[in-house]
Amino acid sequence: MPVLQKRASRPKRISLVTLLTGLVSLSVILTVTILLLSFYQSKKQALINTTLTLNHTSAIKMSHTLDALIKSMRSSLQYSASIFSNRNEMTADDVYSKLELIRRTNNYFNSVTVVDETGRVQSVSPGSIGTVGSYVKTETAKMALALKKPYISKPYVTSSTKRLIVLMSEPIFDKDGIYRGVIGGTIYLHEDNILNTIFGSNPTDELGSSFYIVGSDGHLLFHRDPNRIGEDISANPAVRKLIQGKNGYEQMVNLRGQTVLAAYVKVPENDWGVVVVSPISVVQEQVNRDIQSVLLYMLPSFLLLMLVVIVLARKIAKPFVSLANLVSKAGRQEVELSEGSQHWNREAELLSRAIRFALTNIKKKTEQLTHDARTDPLTGLTNRRTLEETMQKWMAEQIPFSIMMMDLDRFKAINDTYGHQAGDEVLRHFAKIISSSLRPEDVSCRFGGEEFVVLVSHTGLEEAYQVAERIRRALETRTNPIGQRLTVSQGIAHYPSHAVSPEGLLHVADEAMYKAKRAGRNQTMIAEEE
Ligand code: GH3
Ligand code: MG
Ligand code: MG
Repeated sequence: MPVLQKRASRPKRISLVTLLTGLVSLSVILTVTILLLSFYQSKKQALINTTLTLNHTSAIKMSHTLDALIKSMRSSLQYSASIFSNRNEMTADDVYSKLELIRRTNNYFNSVTVVDETGRVQSVSPGSIGTVGSYVKTETAKMALALKKPYISKPYVTSSTKRLIVLMSEPIFDKDGIYRGVIGGTIYLHEDNILNTIFGSNPTDELGSSFYIVGSDGHLLFHRDPNRIGEDISANPAVRKLIQGKNGYEQMVNLRGQTVLAAYVKVPENDWGVVVVSPISVVQEQVNRDIQSVLLYMLPSFLLLMLVVIVLARKIAKPFVSLANLVSKAGRQEVELSEGSQHWNREAELLSRAIRFALTNIKKKTEQLTHDARTDPLTGLTNRRTLEETMQKWMAEQIPFSIMMMDLDRFKAINDTYGHQAGDEVLRHFAKIISSSLRPEDVSCRFGGEEFVVLVSHTGLEEAYQVAERIRRALETRTNPIGQRLTVSQGIAHYPSHAVSPEGLLHVADEAMYKAKRAGRNQTMIAEEE
């Protein structure tokens, strides 16, 4: 069938089940994805906010601690300055032992130095520094001396020991109020100092948050990476804010290009600043862990949902699929139209009913057409085409049979006398006689006009002759529609005795029939042997 071949060469079509399953699965997956994405976003934002708030809280706490510390250091120096107000009356050893006492009691300073108003170092603890008797050289130290006021320096490198330090100094006045120099305490930024003691040497918590302390000009005073201490990070956004005198917290990009959550708080006492930062990756990891657990939690119900969806899709598609299969099969072969189950889907039920109705109708029509194509409408006997088919079939199967050619005598006269209608009645009457005289496996045919042909299988000439004679006598003797004597002339031939083709056999039988006509009609003639 060319139509079917054409269809087969077309690209493969998606089946309804796949389409439905795919569509619903897609919407489920999309919904879940959207839900997960929004969960991810809100969770991330919440974590960012929490982290920022936590960082801010700890920055405030540290700023308070630092403020209190600086105040204590300041008052310690003030107290020491008051001790040294009558320094002129003290021996050098006395001054030194007092300095040692001050330095060792509270460990605030790495070194403590007394400098007179001329800038000459009078005493220093620890004595190992060995600067006693020399004059201060660094600009910072000179400034501290010149100021005659409490002072805290930026980080700087000392001329004698080349250390990075911060200097805190207090003026010394004698009991007459005359300026007698300064007492200065230092913090060695790169060594064990009071900041390490209080804040720990590796200030990172388990959440990845860390903090650092910057001076008022943006230099690092305290950092978990000791190599960075002293570095100028005033360009850092948080430090910039601190220098502008602001406290706060926000997400920002640090000097190394990392996104961090930073909180920054100033220390009121000395304008230092505390910055607590968490890398955003910590938040990211936390959110990822949360998403993973949500996914794990969702997976079984999600799979169940998909399963239900697939089963439902199949259930919905099933009637349409079986109808499509039925219709496509009906185009190719005879199909059995079972009553079919009722569908719960309205459209499927309607479609199913319509298709069953149409197919039943087509089947009936086809059967009718097939019947019509094989039978003679007037007599109900088979027609010439069927006759020829049967002969071909029997000959192919080499079934021996006899053929009878029958032609009503003087039929034209019947038509002329009683009319065409009556003629038809006679034809039907004769057809009935033929049918009733034959076995079911025999074939009777209206060959054309008033000519009939009968095939009797597995039957020899003699036996066929008996059958033909029975028919002839029945026509002659039975009452008929016109009430006049009816006769028929018949010729008989045999396959394969007389001919081996349908045309040949028909011709031989026809000859015999004409012989019967010529011999006076109302008789049966057997064809002559070749
Ligand atoms: P013969 O004995 O030689 O066979 O004479 P006949 O009159 O039967 O032969 P002929 O072939 O001359 O006439 C056949 C007639 O059959 C002619 C035609 O009018 C008539 N006939 C053919 N088909 C039909 C039909 O379907 N109905 C009727 N009523 N008459 C038909
Ligand atoms: Mg005739
Ligand atoms: Mg005739």
